[in-house]
Amino acid sequence: MSRPLLAAALLAAALPTAAFAREQPGKIAKRIADEVRKINEAHVQSEVRKRTARKKAKDGWARDLPDMEGTTIESSLHADLSEFALMDVATLVRAKDSRRTRAALVVAGEAALGLDWMLAFDRIEERLYDLDADAAKELGIAVSRERFLLRGVGGIEFDLLNTFADALDAVLDQYEETFGFKEWSKVPGKKLRVRLRLVDSITRGPHFAPQFPFHSEIDFPVVDPKRFTSPTSDGNFLFYGLCHELGHVIAMWGDREHEEDRHAWAHYTGAVILEELAKSKSNEKWRLRVRDARYRSLSKDRKKLEGAGVEPSLTSRSGVLALLIRLHDAVGPRAIGAAINHLDRMDERLRIRGVRYYTFAELRAGLLATLDDAEKKRAATELLP
Ligand SMILES: [Zn+2]
Repeated sequence: MSRPLLAAALLAAALPTAAFAREQPGKIAKRIADEVRKINEAHVQSEVRKRTARKKAKDGWARDLPDMEGTTIESSLHADLSEFALMDVATLVRAKDSRRTRAALVVAGEAALGLDWMLAFDRIEERLYDLDADAAKELGIAVSRERFLLRGVGGIEFDLLNTFADALDAVLDQYEETFGFKEWSKVPGKKLRVRLRLVDSITRGPHFAPQFPFHSEIDFPVVDPKRFTSPTSDGNFLFYGLCHELGHVIAMWGDREHEEDRHAWAHYTGAVILEELAKSKSNEKWRLRVRDARYRSLSKDRKKLEGAGVEPSLTSRSGVLALLIRLHDAVGPRAIGAAINHLDRMDERLRIRGVRYYTFAELRAGLLATLDDAEKKRAATELLP
């Protein structure tokens, strides 16, 4: 039997798994989690080896490798799961109810999400929901799409999750069209993660959580489990926040001690994307309650900075923002995206916990290596250190 067929048969409870039935649910869940972790670790290692090989093969700035060459895509990692893991999931979802079984289902569900293994996650989540709706709320629900895995915890409803997924797809499409950035996750091939979290009140907006070893993740608090509204009634610009956080996911600046962009980069990319998306006449559902662009956009920032006579510099946040806007106007966002992609291919930048850090000197080098137009090259040279 082929692996997908076997998986389907096992999860549909068509095959007996009596041999495992007496085992502790916690042990079974741990085995599933260990297997997923090993596969993820092997994936990171293989991507690191590819990066090293590329570095060794390089011959200066002129080298231009195809994007994502040889990258392992997350779904293909499912082929590395053993048949035992599939049987373990099947056994676990049929284990009789107990406190231990419920806890084990949570562990196994988290593990399945770590590999975008929705076949297993959906069965585990369904079983947990039958046994303990509150625990199921904490494990949450998930929607997996081509570029991201969206998870909703704390009582988020599917309607919101699907609407949000449409919004995120639109934002990523706009980033693609405007900047053309290529590497969304710090681990090549891994889907971007976004965790929607239902909270009583939003004390901190969306933020990029760089601590996860195997993927990049954005934490996204919401107060309404059903509908996506932004700004919220208490003034949180959640949609702008999403556009902004993706700017951090693409590029952090400086190093651990000093933020070279003074937090202007993500504001810049976020404002650009907000403004571009607002030009669309489309009436997709996610747009109905999203009004951030009325208050924030690149044009508004440009006018404000010009009005205040702020000159491009690296010495203040408004100076960096003026610099980025001037660069945007001189070379265009596609050129900025191409320079970042070029730096990603070279991969000589600082990485902290896998997260890529850039400097403006590197951006300048990236632009000079990728721009053809002499006028644009001069503008990049003048603006950047
Ligand atoms: Zn930020």
